[in-house]
Amino acid sequence: MAIISDPLRLVIGDKAAKRLDEAFGMRTVGDLLRHYPRRYANRGELTSLTGLRDGEHVTVMAEVAAVSSRPMRNRRGSIFEAVVTDGHGRLTLTFFGRGRQDWREDKLQPGMRGLFSGQVSSFRGKRQLAHPDYEVIGAGTSDARAAEFAAELIPIYPATGKIASWRIADSVRIALDVLDVPADPLPAVLRREHDLIGYADALRGIHRPVDFPDRDRARTRLKWDEAFALQVALAQRRRAAADYSAIARPRVPGGLLDDFDAALPFELTIGQQLAGATIADELARDHPMNRLLQGEVGSGKTVIAVRAMLQAVDAAGQAVLLAPTEVLAQQHCRSISSLLGPLGQAGQLGGAEHATRVTLLTGSQGAASRRRALLEAASGEAGIVIGTHALLEDRVQFADLGLVVIDEQHRFGVEQRDALRDKAGDGRPHVLVMTATPIPRTVAMTVFGDLDVSTLTELPAGRQPIATHVVPAAERPNYLARTWERIREEVASGRQAYVVCPRIGDGPPSASASAGASGRGTAEPGGAEAGDSADWLEDEGDEGPQRPPIAVLDLAAELAAGPLAGLRLGIMHGRLPAEEKDRVMLAFADGSVDVLITTTVIEVGVDVPNATVMAIMDAERFGVSQLHQLRGRVGRGGTASWCYLLGGEEGNERLTAVAGSTDGFALAEADLRVRGEGTLLGARQKGQSDLRLASLTDAGDMALLDEARQVAETMVDADPQLQAHADLADEVGLLLSEDEEEYLFKS
Ligand code: ADP
Ligand code: MG
Repeated sequence: MAIISDPLRLVIGDKAAKRLDEAFGMRTVGDLLRHYPRRYANRGELTSLTGLRDGEHVTVMAEVAAVSSRPMRNRRGSIFEAVVTDGHGRLTLTFFGRGRQDWREDKLQPGMRGLFSGQVSSFRGKRQLAHPDYEVIGAGTSDARAAEFAAELIPIYPATGKIASWRIADSVRIALDVLDVPADPLPAVLRREHDLIGYADALRGIHRPVDFPDRDRARTRLKWDEAFALQVALAQRRRAAADYSAIARPRVPGGLLDDFDAALPFELTIGQQLAGATIADELARDHPMNRLLQGEVGSGKTVIAVRAMLQAVDAAGQAVLLAPTEVLAQQHCRSISSLLGPLGQAGQLGGAEHATRVTLLTGSQGAASRRRALLEAASGEAGIVIGTHALLEDRVQFADLGLVVIDEQHRFGVEQRDALRDKAGDGRPHVLVMTATPIPRTVAMTVFGDLDVSTLTELPAGRQPIATHVVPAAERPNYLARTWERIREEVASGRQAYVVCPRIGDGPPSASASAGASGRGTAEPGGAEAGDSADWLEDEGDEGPQRPPIAVLDLAAELAAGPLAGLRLGIMHGRLPAEEKDRVMLAFADGSVDVLITTTVIEVGVDVPNATVMAIMDAERFGVSQLHQLRGRVGRGGTASWCYLLGGEEGNERLTAVAGSTDGFALAEADLRVRGEGTLLGARQKGQSDLRLASLTDAGDMALLDEARQVAETMVDADPQLQAHADLADEVGLLLSEDEEEYLFKS
């Protein structure tokens, strides 16, 4: 008999265990049993063969329609082909062999049904699986298999080219057969209240359901497990964070913050006032603040951060602001210095009497200025230190670090947060994380569940709406020409423009360039992106265009020679050296570049109020939220602004959604529904998410997470280490293996 934490190899043997480890990183029986079927094939029901896409790894249930074999032309051996069908579509299975093929012909005969698994490709216009793995259902199968196939529902597992679904099913069956009934990790109160089946029954029911209701009972129960384990982990983490001590940084009357507020040229929005008050309050406590401040681009987060930093400085502490890129660090340094004016010019001519100093620390600065910055940070001379990852290095020390502000959190991991935290002497610094990515409440509650959240929902008054238009460039070349004309018009009236591309490119000469500015999108088959290799065919995502995505370098050359000839064009992308990026950004900011042709490096935080037009090339390649973020780069100066979404087909839903709404939260919710949580949480392997069954997009599941959170909090408050709930503690540990926990708490 076996238990959940036993090594897999003890149960299914070395060879099978090794395969599963290589394919999915599975080590224990529990790892395998939490590899849930992606779907279930109904016995007797064939899988639709239409909609198979090249490159996909699929498992289909189909019937053999015809078989044939012929000798290979140039080599010894023969080709055996079987055509399988779902009653409508057809798929060719091709086997190349050297020796006798008879055994295969024996097994695959017209009329037989089986599961076929392999990678889809096209050959002479026909969809095929070359050398698929297959399993005939019915005649000739072993007893165990026969039992498997006698069941109404056949589990189809997320599989890979190396290991087919039914091999996983074999291993699962063995594991389930020898598994000791595990103790139930879910609190009895939840089980009773929601009429949940036991853990062992649920494991059996999800892998080997008798029917769909059976499967559903299992799913419901297991959703509670993962929701509860997740919320317990979050509650523990929140609690642990709150148990640390911090130095209180209460507001000091007559300090820099008072002066700053008095000189502020505008009135804070209600949202800013509320968030500001909460933060001021938390800074004054002797436990660390852990707060996420979210608000759209331009909603005025930076001002709030500056006010918090001044409060810390007034209370004898230092504050750091960690930015994700050099460009942003520099920009923050400039804009914060200018916001502070004389208040930030300690020791300089014109500096206020009790002024502090703003210091920049980045990886690309020269040795001398770097040494000075390090010194100012360590001596405490610099009240505010702004920088990039360079801030995290061991050599960077502070006299008294009181507040850490992290801009655009999704680019930093929890290790970075902790690296900065460790630089505070006694206790921990207060932490303020800022993000412009609207995070739906559901996601905030799970992924960022260890942070308290403040949200700015309004933009400061005087913002102009951004008129957004979808331009189906390939179908309507004259619309495309009109876009370039609009840019010329804006530039002629002294404004500036962004042109955003999904790719950097290798620079001209390039055959793909013409697809961009001219709209002659030549279809070039086979140029598919190496995207998600979905191993099942039920998600019918929209296929991208066949040509490679439009590239900055190609398009820039083309625009310079054509539609935008004579304008001052700048190029910006992630491969440029840091100094070059800064140079270009500065040139754009001071107006000596008219049009910035760029990748999404400008996505976050860049602020050039004079920019009034943005054209986004191949817009359908970007996520809804991302488009919204990008668009936020214009419309910042109180003048009417435009955003053109080029590409896509007429009526493309996502683009139309972006064009139709300026509500980032609504768009983020929509994005979440359409594309799943992955887009918000960053690249995570399909099927590896910590929520395997529950979905952040399902209202019922969210209610479940909500309730799980409440029960979890009560439990953790009463028993932080879960001493009275050893099984649950194990489960939390299991569900959140170390890597996952790190990912989960990335913020
Ligand atoms: P975010 O960091 O959220 O993108 P910023 O803090 O950079 O936004 O603010 C964008 C611009 O709006 C800045 O130029 C800032 O000075 C200005 N701003 C901030 N708050 C207000 C306000 N309450 N009223 C008017 N302008 C504001
Ligand atoms: Mg900002």
